[in-house]
Amino acid sequence: MDKGIFIALMNPAMALTFAAAFAILWHAQRQRRYILRLSCGYLAFATAFLFQHFSPTGLTIFRFASNGLFVLGAICITTGALERYGRTPPIRAMLATAGVGLSAFTWFFFVQPDIIWRIYAVNFTLGVIALLFVVELGKAPAKKAIDRLLLAIMLIAGLSFFVRPPLTIWIEGPYATFEDFSGSLYWITLVFTGSLFLLLFALTIITAVALDVMDELRRKSETDMLSGLLNRRGFESHMEAAFATRPRGMAAALIVCDIDRFKTINDRYGHAVGDRVIRHFADCLAGATEGQHPVGRIGGEEFAILLENADAITARLLAEGIRIAFSNAAADFPAGIQMTASFGIAEAAPDEVSHDLFRRADQALYLAKNSGRDCVRIAADPARRAAG
Ligand code: GH3
Ligand code: MG
Ligand code: MG
Repeated sequence: MDKGIFIALMNPAMALTFAAAFAILWHAQRQRRYILRLSCGYLAFATAFLFQHFSPTGLTIFRFASNGLFVLGAICITTGALERYGRTPPIRAMLATAGVGLSAFTWFFFVQPDIIWRIYAVNFTLGVIALLFVVELGKAPAKKAIDRLLLAIMLIAGLSFFVRPPLTIWIEGPYATFEDFSGSLYWITLVFTGSLFLLLFALTIITAVALDVMDELRRKSETDMLSGLLNRRGFESHMEAAFATRPRGMAAALIVCDIDRFKTINDRYGHAVGDRVIRHFADCLAGATEGQHPVGRIGGEEFAILLENADAITARLLAEGIRIAFSNAAADFPAGIQMTASFGIAEAAPDEVSHDLFRRADQALYLAKNSGRDCVRIAADPARRAAG
């Protein structure tokens, strides 16, 4: 009995398992189309490995097709993975590489049969595709640890296609026939490194997808649906993170604001208009902060902005700008509508915790409401108050 059959079955079985796993994952995450491409890539690999070893005698066309499927699988998984990063895959360069490589392979298969050159043609093609992937992924900004791991795996995989074939052939000598070659060191190392890279690539991508999904769920759980800003939980977690890493003495200011007499707007013009007013106020806040600072809807018609590296004066300028922008847009709303908001500001003391800063900004907002609304008030410095 040919014991090699167990080794030969390892790669197709593994590739098929991952093809199925990716298909199931895609079914649960239909919007991530690239997962389907990864599944197709692994299916191509599984078929390629099967054709390589189990081609019926005499039907060399299976072995021929096998190499085409390896290249197809490589293009599928590399372009699929690049799509996850929103990168445009270098598909032309990949297809050109595949065209040249497979033409050379065809030549050394049918016209001038030579098993060594066939090995080089396929390996170098796969190596160039892997390195094209590495170059493109390398350009992606803000890579996480998992992305750098994928980059390293693919770099090693890409280089191995250039090193392994010449090395194993040099150690063991050239193979005259396919039967020679199928029990060779080249074949054993191919099966081993092939299974290792298929496994590492799939596990890295599956981990990356899991992290993406977790990120998305966290973002959703921290986003307010009506305004698109952070919700209370999201804002508080941003604030806690900022205060946990705030160097002692670094300035920070909190603005808490509340739409004036909002209940009257609801009562007079209806809930739908009320919602539009909330969205409009949120747009004013987002426009003024330009994504530079955390902004949250922390209650029904109550909002907050955290300004790091800013003092109360800067916060006041920003708040005044928002106050004016908000009340100026009344033209887009029902005639006679009164749209104003009140603002409370507190500048963080060196050792102040976020909870205390919130309380003081709230007190300043209360002061603004009691001063006739449509205005900005700044909380007293806690140190000065204590001293005085
Ligand atoms: P003040 O100037 O003192 O802040 O008065 P106000 O009327 O704005 O404050 P109050 O707290 O009395 O009323 C807030 C209202 O906001 C009550 C609630 O029905 C309404 N509200 C809360 N969330 C929403 C929402 O998502 N949409 C709409 N349309 N109304 C909301
Ligand atoms: Mg209000
Ligand atoms: Mg309120």
